[in-house]
Amino acid sequence: MQTLIAANWKMFKTGPEAAATVTSLAEKLGGACPAGRDVLVFAPFTALEAVARAMNALSGAMVGAQNLYPAEEGAFTGEISARMISACGATWVLTGHSERRHILGESNAFVGQKTGFALRHGLRVTLCVGETLDEREAGKLKDVLTEQLREGLADLPEGFSPDALAVAYEPVWAIGTGKTALSEDIADAHGLVRGLLKDFLGSQAQNIRVLYGGSVKPDNAAAILALDNVDGVLVGGASLQAENFIRIVTA
Ligand code: PEP
Repeated sequence: MQTLIAANWKMFKTGPEAAATVTSLAEKLGGACPAGRDVLVFAPFTALEAVARAMNALSGAMVGAQNLYPAEEGAFTGEISARMISACGATWVLTGHSERRHILGESNAFVGQKTGFALRHGLRVTLCVGETLDEREAGKLKDVLTEQLREGLADLPEGFSPDALAVAYEPVWAIGTGKTALSEDIADAHGLVRGLLKDFLGSQAQNIRVLYGGSVKPDNAAAILALDNVDGVLVGGASLQAENFIRIVTA
């Protein structure tokens, strides 16, 4: 299984700014992703096309959208369809990011609808799960992950390829805060996620990449990537500058 190093550029960068970052990544990486590593950038909708074009200079790199609406088309003002995302050259989409769950009020059930819809429409999905600090302190980590995964995976298409799905464990309290979870907490949570994937999906679970996200930085990436059941990372703030992101891609 290739290690997946994914960037989430959130609501940062215009198209030209995003393309310039990819061009800089491509130059510094010598035009190809390092052996054994997949590089994926979740760019804002308005930058998808520019990023996809710039990625022609970085062989093996992929682009994804940060959200989609689970309908073919229609009267959904402000929303973006799977077909629109694919037409921009993007092949992945994020679902269930904690900022969408907690700022925009997305439920587990809606996240599950989006995940299934995206997979049925030819997109690959990174489904994000993770507990808040209150939930962790109340001893609810397993319950939260169980419900997020049960509902998040409830609508998967028959015979989907495990390579088309990744799960990102992102403790909400570690996102954008500079507080990385302790290695033992990451290893424990990833073990729980792998076990739940086995419960829900059987033998396919071992081929689904489980990523860690939450204040991953150039100086902690290698240690996190070395942990059991960590098959990659999802990086927000530290992916915005090519120099930092390269140090994580090559960690
Ligand atoms: C994220 O946005 O998914 C994320 C993990 O952000 P950060 O790396 O900034 O904590």
